[in-house]
Amino acid sequence: MMSEPNGLTLLAEPGRACPVCGGEILAALQVPNGWTIEQGRQVRGHTEVLLCERCDREDPVTGPIVVFFTVHAQLTTADHVDELAALLQRWADHAAPRPLDEEALAAEVDAWYRGEL
Ligand SMILES: [Zn+2]
Repeated sequence: MMSEPNGLTLLAEPGRACPVCGGEILAALQVPNGWTIEQGRQVRGHTEVLLCERCDREDPVTGPIVVFFTVHAQLTTADHVDELAALLQRWADHAAPRPLDEEALAAEVDAWYRGEL
């Protein structure tokens, strides 16, 4: 794996649907990612780690964020912002790309060769 620090970018894309369950995506992080392909070449890129209102509700790290968004639909006080920032930071510290999905990667590579990416 890469030794880079997690240079995480929080993406705000309201209304996005979870690719797994179709639920609402509350937030997304961009995590640096990289892997070795044929001939030992390194591919570097970014992986998105999504926070889904349904899939991530039971997770000890992301669950509190789901609860936060449910309770505080709109941020109204500085306390809320600080609380959310702390929760998101904890998530960022724990976030990691999911294990490489070989089939998804192959599909992406195909799409890249077809000029679709
Ligand atoms: Zn989901």
